[in-house]
Amino acid sequence: MSGAGRVPHRAGRRVPAGGAPRTAVCAAPPVEVRVSPLHGLGVFALAPIERGTRIFEYLGERISHEEADRRYDHKAPHDNHTFLFIAAEDTVIDAGVGGNEARFVNHACEPNCESVIERARVYIEALRDIAAGEELTYDYQIRRERDDPPDIDALFACRCGSARCRGSMLWPRRRAP
Ligand SMILES: [Zn+2]
Repeated sequence: MSGAGRVPHRAGRRVPAGGAPRTAVCAAPPVEVRVSPLHGLGVFALAPIERGTRIFEYLGERISHEEADRRYDHKAPHDNHTFLFIAAEDTVIDAGVGGNEARFVNHACEPNCESVIERARVYIEALRDIAAGEELTYDYQIRRERDDPPDIDALFACRCGSARCRGSMLWPRRRAP
């Protein structure tokens, strides 16, 4: 990746296509978007959400990695008001264009949701039972890049407040073999 910007790309757990059919996406997820104590806007449960619920799909324009770089590479490195999600090797979802409320779900290190990628589509699913009023969160798993500056973790600092907060929205470094 070139340019001054360091565009954060969110990632998720890939599940193999095929096999048993997965649960359908909520027709009308019981959530609202409002100001969050974590960061900016957040998504909050209006009613209890059962573990395993596929709450919503992460929607947006489907573009190439090159197009994502072209759109956002000029942004300041610590401006993480981008909504890019890696859906497949050759596809990025830009929820800044045509996105739904899923783009406002904040990052946390001990989240109550996870991002699941199935057939190059991204879904936010409940990892556990969620009570009404709770803020939804998932781990952004922001990909590390070869040319990241040494202070990259500070640029994407996490202040989720969890006891096991790793202090960064970036995915942990691979352990030395
Ligand atoms: Zn954290």
